[in-house]
Order: sequence, then structure tokens, then C-alpha cells
Amino acid sequence: MPCGTWNKPVADGVLLGVSILDSIVIGAGQAGLSASYHLSRLGISHVVLDADDEPGGAWRHRWDALTMRDVHGVAELPGDTAPPRDGARANVAVPAYFAAYERAHRLPMVRPVAVDRVDDDDGILVVRAGDRHWRTRTLVNATGTWTHPFLPHYPGMETFLGEQLHTVDYPGPAHFLGKRVLVVGGGASAVQFIGALAPLTETLWATRREPVWRNDDFTPEAGAAAVALVEQRVAQGLPPQSVVSVTGLMLRPQEREAERLGAYDARRPMFARIEPDGVRWADGSFERVDVILWATGFRPAIGHLAPLHLRSAAGGIQLDRDGRGTTAVKDPRIQLVGYGPSASTIGANRAGRSAAKGVQRALGAVRDAPLQTSV
Ligand SMILES: Cc1cc2nc3c(=O)[nH]c(=O)nc-3n(C[C@H](O)[C@H](O)[C@H](O)COP(=O)(O)OP(=O)(O)OC[C@H]3O[C@@H](n4cnc5c(N)ncnc54)[C@H](O)[C@@H]3O)c2cc1C
Repeated sequence: MPCGTWNKPVADGVLLGVSILDSIVIGAGQAGLSASYHLSRLGISHVVLDADDEPGGAWRHRWDALTMRDVHGVAELPGDTAPPRDGARANVAVPAYFAAYERAHRLPMVRPVAVDRVDDDDGILVVRAGDRHWRTRTLVNATGTWTHPFLPHYPGMETFLGEQLHTVDYPGPAHFLGKRVLVVGGGASAVQFIGALAPLTETLWATRREPVWRNDDFTPEAGAAAVALVEQRVAQGLPPQSVVSVTGLMLRPQEREAERLGAYDARRPMFARIEPDGVRWADGSFERVDVILWATGFRPAIGHLAPLHLRSAAGGIQLDRDGRGTTAVKDPRIQLVGYGPSASTIGANRAGRSAAKGVQRALGAVRDAPLQTSV
């Protein structure tokens, strides 16, 4: 039975009078806020633990030059309208939108709390962050990918005397003026970086695979087909690919100048090794570069769930309903949102709803079993 105290004041993350929560949401990006909204509507006692000091999820950390017009689109949070697509900085506008949403819906936020690990203590989940811990019957993991950037290893990488940056470090185009920049990666971020840099400075591009371009309109059907590909992987317990990696790449008006300069045609397959002043291609030729910008993506930030042994032998976490659901097949108390097919703002919204229902189902199951009682 819902305890009905979900929106009462919290003291150090423990709802007044409740020592075992019905649920905990870890992460307060789009996915975590959506989950919390739906849990609240179902009257399920929970707190949202978030590692950041302030609202905004990963959007807080995106580069200053990224405006709301540049982003592919931030979907509206449940029960709200989407933030405007204007010239405002995304790292200001989205955090403000999330902050207002948290307040309007009185979501039970606790921050900053960086969760280190989650253990199973005789049927109760113990969520630990340093010397603090919370006990809960179910868990919604909404930790995104931003805190887990992926950097591939190439021979000689540590000998490079220039600058190596990942997408998470991107300081905006002005930083690169007068520098020879090699952008590595075949995703949407690489395309955007080249669009911004090629008109300003000498820019090269290397990708592992030939990029797949799409010139047709990106219809909802095409989006659904791309999401279905990721679902198939998650249904098999494979590590998820990003949705963008299976949609194909498109150039937007902002990238047309770089296209006119031939920056996208000059793409090369990956280099063989890195040397102090540049990179050596597979054919033996050498390219001097000042900066290597690794736009090589992210992996799900789920290391804290390792003690629960949710991963399949294939390396990913298998989700129910053929990968369309949010419930971990190995442990129905755990929901994953913003993971695999739901790693977009629109997918995260839907996943939040599905997760709240999954929590409700799991609570029904534990209540049918003998339970330790709340105080
Ligand atoms: C460069 C870039 C541009 C993108 N542009 C778009 C776009 O235009 N439109 C779109 O739909 N999608 C876009 N995406 C994808 C989109 O950002 C995400 O799918 C979605 O916003 C992620 O929401 P989330 O809630 O899953 O994660 P996040 O927004 O990353 O939020 C995760 C939260 O969890 C917290 N957290 C992480 N680990 C812990 C921990 N151990 N303990 C406690 N808290 C933790 C973090 O502090 C953070 O607040 C983009 C992604 C990237 C990388």
C-alpha cells in the first residue's frame, strides 16, 4: 500500500517516519524526473538521489556554445510543455526547466549524492554513497551516460604532446583557433564539432567505420525503426548502442559551411598509431595535429549496480518485454531508464512511466511475500 508521504519534507533523504522506502531513483536527468513524477502519481514513497549540486542532469555540463536551436530537441517532461527552441544556452535553459519542474511537482530530491554501490541485504536494497546509505524495496536507475565517457585506446596515445579532449571537455570553438584539430568518431557529436570547427580552423576527421548519411526526412517511423534496433540488442542482453548510432547522420543548416569546405568528404579511416606530434596512418604517412578531439561516445554509468550481478554473459543488462520494457530480467525490483532504447529525452519520458509501473508490480510481489516492516 502506498505510504502517501512521498512529498513530505525529507531529512537526509529519509522520508519522515519511513526507514525502508518503497523506491529510490538514482539520477535526476530527464529519465529520473519522469520516473519520479510517475512514482509520485502512483503514491509510491521514494527519494531521488542525484550526484549533481543542482538540477539539469547532463545538460548542465554541455558546452556554452550549444544553444537550444542546436540540440536535436528536448522533449517535454510529463505533464509539462517543452522548453523553447531558441538561442538560449542549452546548459542554462534545460537546467532552469528541470529546476522549475522539480519545484512544481514537489519531487523529493536529495543532492548532491553520488551513489557508489547498491547491495542486496536479505531482500532489501541498500543504496550507498560514502558513509551514508538508504534502504529500499525497489530501485529506478537513471544515471545516464555522461559521467562515463568512452575513450578507445590507440598505441602511442600517452606519448602525444598536443592536447587530447573528449566530448565532455569540449570548450567551444574559440579554443581551437589556429590549431590543427583531428576529430575522431562517427556520431552526431563529431558531425557537430566539425560543423563548428572547419569554418574556423584546419579540421581533419577520422572514423572507425564509413559514416552512414541519411538525406531523407527523419520521420517518426524512421525513429521507431532505429529504437527497435537498440531494443533487439537489449532484449538479448547485449551492451546497448546509442540510438543515434543506428539512425544515420544528417547535416543541419549549421553544418552546411563545413560541408561546402569539404570537411566531411575528407574523412579518413582510423590512424594506426599516435606519435608525439600527430598520427601515423595505416599507409605509413604522417599527419601533424595539435589537438585530438575524441567524439567517441559514452557508456551507461552503471558501475554502482555491479554487486547486484545484473549483467548477462553478453555484457549488457537484459530488459523485459523484448527490450521495450524497463525491468531488469535478472531482478524485477530494478528498473533501468535512459538505458539503451530509452537514451533520448523522448525515450526517457516514456521509460519513466514504464518504470513506475514496474516498481508498482515489484512492490505488489514483495508485499505478497513475508516482509520486514517499516517503522
Ligand atoms: C552531446 C549530446 C547531445 C544530446 N542531444 C540530445 C538532444 O538534442 N535530444 C535528445 O533527446 N537527446 C539528446 N542526447 C541524449 C540525451 O541527452 C539523453 O538521452 C538524455 O537527456 C539523458 O537523460 P538521462 O536522464 O538518462 O541522463 P542524464 O541527463 O545524464 O542524467 C543523469 C543524472 O544522473 C546523475 N548520476 C550519474 N551517476 C550517478 C550516481 N552514481 N549517483 C547519483 N547520481 C548519478 C547525474 O549527475 C545526472 O544528474 C544528447 C546526448 C549527448 C551526449
